[in-house]
Amino acid sequence: MASLFKKKIEDLKGIGAKRAEQFHNLGIYSVGDLIRYYPKAYEDWSKITPIADASEKEYVCIRAQISSPFSVNYGKGNGKLICKTMAYDESGAVTLIYFNNKYISQMIRTNTEYFFYGKITRTLRGLQMIAPTFKTMADGVAMYPRYHLTAGLANRVVQDAVCKALDMLPEKINDPLPQWVRDRYNLQGLDFSLRKIHIPADNDELFMARRRLIFEELLILNLGLRFLKQGRREENGIILKKNYINDFISLLPFEFTNAQRKCVNDCLNDMINKKSPMNRLIQGDVGSGKTAVACAVSHTVIKNGYQAAFMVPTEILAQQHFASISKLLEGTGIKVELLTGSLTPKNKKLIRERIKEGDIDLIIGTHALITEDTEFKALALAITDEQHRFGVEQRASLLSKGEHPHLMVMSATPIPRTLGLIIYGDLDISVIDELPPGRQKVDTLLIDSTIRARALGFIKKNILQGGQCYIVCPLVEEGENSPEGLLSAQEYANKLRRNKDFKNIPMGVLHGKMKSCDKERIMKEFSQGEIKILVSTTVIEVGVDVPNANIIMIENAERFGLSQLHQLRGRVGRGSEKSYCILVSDHKTEETVRRLETMKRTSNGFEIADEDLRLRGPGDFFGEKQHGIPEMKIADFSNAEIIAETQGCVEEILRKSPNLNGDEYKGIRSEIKRLFSKAGGENLN
Ligand code: ADP
Ligand code: MG
Repeated sequence: MASLFKKKIEDLKGIGAKRAEQFHNLGIYSVGDLIRYYPKAYEDWSKITPIADASEKEYVCIRAQISSPFSVNYGKGNGKLICKTMAYDESGAVTLIYFNNKYISQMIRTNTEYFFYGKITRTLRGLQMIAPTFKTMADGVAMYPRYHLTAGLANRVVQDAVCKALDMLPEKINDPLPQWVRDRYNLQGLDFSLRKIHIPADNDELFMARRRLIFEELLILNLGLRFLKQGRREENGIILKKNYINDFISLLPFEFTNAQRKCVNDCLNDMINKKSPMNRLIQGDVGSGKTAVACAVSHTVIKNGYQAAFMVPTEILAQQHFASISKLLEGTGIKVELLTGSLTPKNKKLIRERIKEGDIDLIIGTHALITEDTEFKALALAITDEQHRFGVEQRASLLSKGEHPHLMVMSATPIPRTLGLIIYGDLDISVIDELPPGRQKVDTLLIDSTIRARALGFIKKNILQGGQCYIVCPLVEEGENSPEGLLSAQEYANKLRRNKDFKNIPMGVLHGKMKSCDKERIMKEFSQGEIKILVSTTVIEVGVDVPNANIIMIENAERFGLSQLHQLRGRVGRGSEKSYCILVSDHKTEETVRRLETMKRTSNGFEIADEDLRLRGPGDFFGEKQHGIPEMKIADFSNAEIIAETQGCVEEILRKSPNLNGDEYKGIRSEIKRLFSKAGGENLN
């Protein structure tokens, strides 16, 4: 199998340069990649449904014959060719309709049985099936794979290529899972699983193939993360000598909560007089005060004579952290600077020179921190904020800027507990499970657009009393909103400015496509209270902290995931004023109402994440590289049972072979290497 990852996709018969390009678009470069390109769904032709039993809108396979030849008509107005006939089985009859397919009447003959696959809908004229695919009795029935496709590449082409690729599998393939693991956990062999995942005869075979492949993927991920952690454990960290926390505490304008204090202690304990570097995740709900924790830890590192780097996902957040942290550290002699992509080349160069010379103690920045030309004199602490926005690779490249520096990652994205162990398998965890005192619960209201005018009145009144407000819109581009009535931030603001009640209220617009200096200016004016209403896209989602803002109104709330709404809502309720979150939505479907009601019911991030996962399904929740772990091909973390099993299996394997160096584990080792190849996997020999 391993050698097939070296065989180019072009080596398959019938795949030329142009086709190869299309496969590349799907991330498939080698024959091995293709074999590991699993179907996203299956057409199940293996179960024949009597016509009368077909439930509406579900795909079914029926076995039927047509009673008379197709009638051929041209549609009124559009001139479409419409071919219709009736098909029947012993249970009932259904009208088959094909559009613009002039050969259909030659392909489907009377008095011959066929299998038809499609959706059956109920109409006033009875049951109907539009353009079902069909197969002859000789074709037989089975499960047919459906792949994610790209322009120009049809399902059939992928399927053919997969079949050819499967033919290239060697007679005896090396299974990365040792025999004892397969026996113990009741797993099929690799050969069976690879063939059956693409072409299962029935649901049972598919189930077995899937189970084995999911198990393998989770096992490799789990072991890989353990090894990353273990590798770091064996490194020599930078040993700090002295704890300066009391000096830092005297700088704070507030008192640490107990939870914050505990987190700081966890971190300092990891670093002071300890041989191996710290690897710690700080998980705390929005508003729990993670920045101050990061700052406290950096302070001690710097006082011990080293540098710290604080990496955040957006410019706005970098600027904000820079402003608040510089202020906090004023008078300490600690030099804090900002490094983001939008600095002039000259300034960037200057900052980088100073970092290299050790003239900057704490550098706050975006991805600009991990480009090749950023070098440190003595980096001892790497911090990433909002860690779900960064991949394992990016964490690794920040770490590579020093000699085994300590690592602190901070996250406000609560994940369902069952998954924490896998996703954060390479980190120790501290949780800030307490909010600073004096915070009031944010009241969440759910309204439709008929009430918007009243909500705006409420906002205006609040502003006259000294408050500030965010209004969040889902899209930026002008005009893009029209078909669905979605409002872009710019258009929304324009409209609001025309409203006589809002004429004299200072307003700003913020979206991702603005020039960074403009973003900075707007954000500054908002945090200084000069702007009262900030109409924005989701760029304010992560980390933005303006305690005086106490209302957030979210338009088209149904377009956002629950966890995202939770993050957005976390922008308010940061000061002592009563705060409100107003969700505007005209979607009345049961699911939407239920989702949005969840926001009203709870402000617990974990509960919301659980509900999000349950309602949206794991595909969405983990879809977009949410948690910085390598991309999974088949596992989706929804199967708690397999997760638990793999965890047990990992323990057992490591007990037998702590370094996986037996021959038996060669396959596992190389799979780990492949999965983490972009994530500093070199350490995993
Ligand atoms: P997050 O955990 O979401 O990153 P922040 O670090 O932005 O939270 O903190 C939210 C707000 O709470 C900030 O304005 C910060 O100054 C304030 N804050 C943090 N810790 C405390 C505390 N112990 N007491 C009072 N206010 C605090
Ligand atoms: Mg934060």
